[in-house]
Amino acid sequence: MTLTGIGYDSHRLGAGRRLVIGGIEIPYERGLEGHSDADVLTHAVIDALLGAAGLGDIGEHFPDTEERWRDADSIELLHEVRALITAQGLLPLNIDCTVIMEAPKLAPHRLAIRERLAAALHLEIARVNVKASTGEGIGFVGRGEGVAALAIAGLQSAD
Ligand code: MG
Repeated sequence: MTLTGIGYDSHRLGAGRRLVIGGIEIPYERGLEGHSDADVLTHAVIDALLGAAGLGDIGEHFPDTEERWRDADSIELLHEVRALITAQGLLPLNIDCTVIMEAPKLAPHRLAIRERLAAALHLEIARVNVKASTGEGIGFVGRGEGVAALAIAGLQSAD
């Protein structure tokens, strides 16, 4: 049996924040705003995994009204989500995702992001694909106001 789930997230870009994407801090003049580290890609991956397992969404498990998730390392949340999934007798099979961002370029960081996500999910790097796209100057991404991410996750039975 295989199961699939989708995830989407977006965060606003602002001054005085770190830009963390897929667990990797990318040097840039602005960063993503949010209650946690605002790691837009990891949040999309988490929602895809939760979706595939039928376990709701990230907001249910890690409410942004809770103080303990302030500035949370989203990779730690990803570890917790993997534990929730394995408790259901399921294992991550693969992740594919797209980061939609006008600047900076994601390409120099793509391998590090894949390695970070793959390690958190106990997957081979070939099973974690990361793609980059831009907003072509259109909409909130194109105007450089924020970053969006899409993800799809496959799960399989652990037995
Ligand atoms: Mg988010």
